[in-house]
Amino acid sequence: MYADTIDTDERPFVLIWEVTQACDLACKHCRAEAEPRRHPDELTTAEGKALLEEAAAFGDGQLVVLSGGDPLARGDVPELVEYGTDLGLRMTMTPSGTNSLTADRIQALADAGLRRMAVSIDGASAVSHDEFRQETGSFQQTIEAARHAKRAGLPLQINTTVCRDTVEELPAIRDLVADLGAVLWSVFFLVPVGRGAVLDPISPEHAERVMAWLCSVQSDAPFGIKTTEAPHYRRVALQEQTDSESPGPASDGIGRRTGITAGDGFAFVSHTGELFPSGFLPESAGSVRQESLVDLYRNSALFEGLRDPDALQGKCGACPYRNVCGGSRSRAYANTNDPLESDPLCAFVPDGYDGPLPASWENSAVGD
Ligand code: SF4
Repeated sequence: MYADTIDTDERPFVLIWEVTQACDLACKHCRAEAEPRRHPDELTTAEGKALLEEAAAFGDGQLVVLSGGDPLARGDVPELVEYGTDLGLRMTMTPSGTNSLTADRIQALADAGLRRMAVSIDGASAVSHDEFRQETGSFQQTIEAARHAKRAGLPLQINTTVCRDTVEELPAIRDLVADLGAVLWSVFFLVPVGRGAVLDPISPEHAERVMAWLCSVQSDAPFGIKTTEAPHYRRVALQEQTDSESPGPASDGIGRRTGITAGDGFAFVSHTGELFPSGFLPESAGSVRQESLVDLYRNSALFEGLRDPDALQGKCGACPYRNVCGGSRSRAYANTNDPLESDPLCAFVPDGYDGPLPASWENSAVGD
């Protein structure tokens, strides 16, 4: 199933469920502002199963990502994976790189039907990764977990955050992604929310260069590349393709060929059951405890508005690429409190556009 063969007005391509906020790490960029203890009001096992039943109502093979916090802080995660798998869902997970990610636990998840495991690598060495993750030993534990996943036959995804602290290490991280045999490299361009608000994003011009580099990496990499909160990668890829006639980004192994954005192919259920367009856009459409997940996704004013490219404001609204890109609605929200405003990380200005430019440009470092 491909993102461009599903109707994202009807169903998300990716449904993320933040099963818990609890995590033993305190990473610098953490959106969830995770803490060691589980929240007393997080969805119970029974509520989680009801949520998975709702997710199955979107249609065959709905992709569900169990995230956190650290999903393995919950003891019922293998049970939830098995339950979702039996419902026909494609269950995947993003555990934290801690010593709880043992070979036995990974094998149990694979046996329960897990389809893919994603781990985060934000530095190419133990020194840089552990500094970013604020935990000595996390790099080694993550590498070992990646190898356990391969041995268990689980396709592996590597997630990497791009910000000024990490951007210089991207070439070395790319080599690591290849060495580990990952099927997908998910490159997240920092949205400064949660603890990530203390990190510096790269400038729009620098992001442009990184995306062009990612296009060149994709042309001969043995893994797929997707960006998160940077849909203008698709605009850059189209421009690069026009320039070089090189092939576009390949499929990622689970079937994604085109991108998705907050509320439009993407939905996020928080640990207490609030439905957000993404984990980085803290506007709730409602609670899955009280309302139908399917109905909220399809019919809430918030989600419907985010799926209308003609509702976009500023230069995103005037952009000829708005139907294939649309900008990060989460970053627009973080910048202006309006999810329909322009994405301040994009350097592209449409021909003839003379309207307002993102206010944050005046403060951003150019050409770093
Ligand atoms: S201006 Fe907006 S819609 Fe156009 S490429 Fe940039 S982020 Fe995408």
